[in-house]
Amino acid sequence: MVIQRKRVKSSRIASIGYDYPRRMLIVEFKRGALYRYDGIPGALYEDLMESKSKGAYFERRVRQDYTTKKVVLPATLGLDGCRARGCKEKGAYTTERGWRCTQHAEEILEL
Ligand SMILES: [Zn+2]
Repeated sequence: MVIQRKRVKSSRIASIGYDYPRRMLIVEFKRGALYRYDGIPGALYEDLMESKSKGAYFERRVRQDYTTKKVVLPATLGLDGCRARGCKEKGAYTTERGWRCTQHAEEILEL
């Protein structure tokens, strides 16, 4: 199941997604990396989305208190485009399964 991420206004964070049943937070950084945090309370996610400075809130309440379970994507953005079937996305990252756009790279979250 793909966790839909919302674009956010932030100097560091590009998008944020959250899955309530699994208490899983996904943060995409503008420098091109996708991180997953487990055990995040729903209220914390809501506060993050409502905070004026999401980068600062994330730094203070998430990054320092929760460990990253998995770095989903390395910080390299390729020019080859996504190789997932039927996908025409141009920007893609190198992943364990080859070139994938951010949406398709999330398949790796199911590992
Ligand atoms: Zn794709």
